[in-house]
Amino acid sequence: MPLEANEKIWMDGKLVPWDEAKVHVLTHSLHYGSGVFEGIRAYPTKKGPAIFRLTEHVARLYRSAKIYTIEIPYTAETLIDACKETVRASGLPECYVRPLVYLGYGEMGLNPLPCPVNVSIAVWPWGAYLGDEGMQHGVRMKISSWRRHDPNIIPPAAKGTGQYINSQLAKVEAIRGGYDEAIMLNPQGFVAEASGENIFIARDGELLTPPLSAGALIGITRDSVIRIARDLGVNVHEADLVRTDLYTADEVFVCGTAAEITPVREIDDRVVGEPGPLTKKIQEVFHSAVRGEVERYAGWLEYVS
Ligand code: PMP
Repeated sequence: MPLEANEKIWMDGKLVPWDEAKVHVLTHSLHYGSGVFEGIRAYPTKKGPAIFRLTEHVARLYRSAKIYTIEIPYTAETLIDACKETVRASGLPECYVRPLVYLGYGEMGLNPLPCPVNVSIAVWPWGAYLGDEGMQHGVRMKISSWRRHDPNIIPPAAKGTGQYINSQLAKVEAIRGGYDEAIMLNPQGFVAEASGENIFIARDGELLTPPLSAGALIGITRDSVIRIARDLGVNVHEADLVRTDLYTADEVFVCGTAAEITPVREIDDRVVGEPGPLTKKIQEVFHSAVRGEVERYAGWLEYVS
């Protein structure tokens, strides 16, 4: 998605014009992937833009930083306010919000400990991540030949910038093969997640999703889906899944901040089908909840003004 230079970007405490939000070429994170980040969405509501589960996203940012021994030089409250301020300043009714903590200019070499820690927050309009057509009729996915990280090699619990090289290998393989997105197995061969989304299958009226120990990120949309499904009276289980569980599922969908709830219509050229009733119902409730239309989930919204 090409970006347009029309917003302001929060950099280390102040809003700077988009075109001036620059870093030095010797920025540590650019060389070694030593950053952590978040992906958040702001939605339009009757009371103006609201950021979906902002406090929880910022909490995950701090957990990611802790895993990589990065000390964020701001409090969580400051970053929460900064996200709201950046959305407000953009004037956008809805947008994607990207906080990034990176190790800046000052030291080179692998040791990250002496590096300065910088924070930026950018926002931009972002439609359906896997396409409008995919959102309505489902996407075509391929199980990647690239495996998801082992937790003792690169921790899947963190949202570290460098880890996404693995996702990119899978994404490129899928796209070059004519698919929309990649599903990744863990080193043991169980389903972990998609390149940037968690995954669910429906079987006999119940939902199944891989446990976090299978190598999935602790997705905030995943958690929202589990809540919504249980509130609808649908049983949800965490279970180790193998690739054939996906081929033979009644329904499959992936979920994440960018992808929201995206149905899957085909996996490795096996037809799963058009979005089924559970997928459609959860999509519908999620779509209303993020726009402040479901009282029960009002607590998920953090208004920017
Ligand atoms: N897995 C990966 C690898 C991701 O990058 C994301 C997006 N952050 C997700 C799952 C979904 O997480 P969330 O719902 O919190 O956006």
